[in-house]
Amino acid sequence: MTPPETSAVDTEVVVVGAGYAGLSAAWRLADAGIDVVVLEAADRVGGRVLSQLRPSGVRVDHGGQWIGPSQRHFHALADRFGCRTFPTWETGRHTEIRADGTRVDYAGGAPDTGPGIAEYERVTALLDDLARTVDLQQPWSTPKFAEFDARSAEDFFRAQTDDEDALQRLALAIQGLWCAEPREISFFHVLFYLASGGGYEQLMETRGCAQDARFCDGADAVAHALATSLGGRVRLGEPVLSLRQSAHGVEAHTGRTLVRARRAVVAVPPAAVGHIAFDPELPAGRQGWIRHTPMGRVAKVHAVYEEPFWRPAGRSGIATLYGDSPVGVVFDNSPEDASHGVLVAFVYGDRLDRWSARADTERRRAVLDALSAVVGPRAARPVDYVEKIWPRTGRTIGGYECFVTPGGWTRHGRDGWRQPSGLVHWAGTETASVWNGYIDGAISSGERAAAEVIGALAAVAHPG
Ligand SMILES: Cc1cc2nc3c(=O)[nH]c(=O)nc-3n(C[C@H](O)[C@H](O)[C@H](O)COP(=O)(O)OP(=O)(O)OC[C@H]3O[C@@H](n4cnc5c(N)ncnc54)[C@H](O)[C@@H]3O)c2cc1C
Repeated sequence: MTPPETSAVDTEVVVVGAGYAGLSAAWRLADAGIDVVVLEAADRVGGRVLSQLRPSGVRVDHGGQWIGPSQRHFHALADRFGCRTFPTWETGRHTEIRADGTRVDYAGGAPDTGPGIAEYERVTALLDDLARTVDLQQPWSTPKFAEFDARSAEDFFRAQTDDEDALQRLALAIQGLWCAEPREISFFHVLFYLASGGGYEQLMETRGCAQDARFCDGADAVAHALATSLGGRVRLGEPVLSLRQSAHGVEAHTGRTLVRARRAVVAVPPAAVGHIAFDPELPAGRQGWIRHTPMGRVAKVHAVYEEPFWRPAGRSGIATLYGDSPVGVVFDNSPEDASHGVLVAFVYGDRLDRWSARADTERRRAVLDALSAVVGPRAARPVDYVEKIWPRTGRTIGGYECFVTPGGWTRHGRDGWRQPSGLVHWAGTETASVWNGYIDGAISSGERAAAEVIGALAAVAHPG
């Protein structure tokens, strides 16, 4: 029985989650004249995209921030709502800090020479060749699908090369793209994801690639615009605790609201689906998929300075760090007008596990030491410093996205990836064929799920 304090709402479609996927699904449904209610657990929209105005007046993006030129779904929404972007700063020489502490400054996308680089480039070219064989709509139809999926990325890399420097470079790439370690991730998933984003260079590089531009008003500005246009349909602070399906439709319960609808779109990452009680239980394939898709582990740390002091010194602020440092990659995240200097440090995978277990002061010192190694001692004295440790964040429990562990695609991909479960349709960046893992993929997944629902409702209205 429904508890007395619960209010009941009737609608046509209930959407769970107000990240980019849920919001774009709801927007498409509303646009098609379908009544929709969005239930969001947090007290804000945007999910893994979260911008914050700091006391210094600088806006930082704690989660997703970049947009690339081929991310057409994200661009279309940004244009529609007039959300401006500006090019990521990459002028000046970049820095590589090697495992032995050696510091190398270089221009262009990556250093041309150095330990392991030739082998690293050979293996990444092979990855691109293999990624070209991936079937993005039906990944299980890819040649050698099961063979690649049975292996971890580490297993594949070690079979290719015994050059430890090349292996370190490959490991940092895996950490940087999935916030996980090569031993943890299915090699097929690596290929799928590369194919989904348009190849290795697209994912790794800045200009013309995935890290091309940032949003003047933060990357969640488009999400806020979507939510505003959806108005009272979006209900915050409403975590869906249970989802029941019957012949009459679905019932989503949040503890204070019961929403009855004809269909549901669940737009939360697989790791968060596991926290919802489904009645009847989800099909075995979907449950298996959830078990094989843990979230990556990442923190983003921003250090704010009075000015981007590294720029006049000819440094870009872009760096990759190997060895003991908790930080893997650094970018210049200063605002467009350079009114302040901002460096963002990424901590991920095993490094995140070790660093996040340390005391606050130790974590801060370790990150500022890393930034000082990149741009000099002034980096040790920021006017503001803020960490966002995603595995500690509410229902998101990590980032950037869920990755697939070895064997997961083969055992559960066909039934568990995005196949609707009765009246429940699945959205979220993890269900995207193109730009899987990115904001663009979240948006296209919402649009795809909305199209599924529109088709299903039309089929009921006009059978045959
Ligand atoms: C640190 C970091 C950096 C990133 N960098 C980039 C980048 O530069 N560019 C890029 O394109 N992508 C980036 N990403 C990835 C990008 O942010 C995600 O792919 C995208 O935001 C996912 O959107 P989504 O709607 O699929 O899921 P989410 O954003 O996770 O939305 C899911 C929503 O569902 C809610 N929810 C969960 N459970 C429930 C429940 N039971 N009931 C109700 N609501 C629930 C959550 O609170 C959340 O709001 C980054 C991510 C992180 C964490």
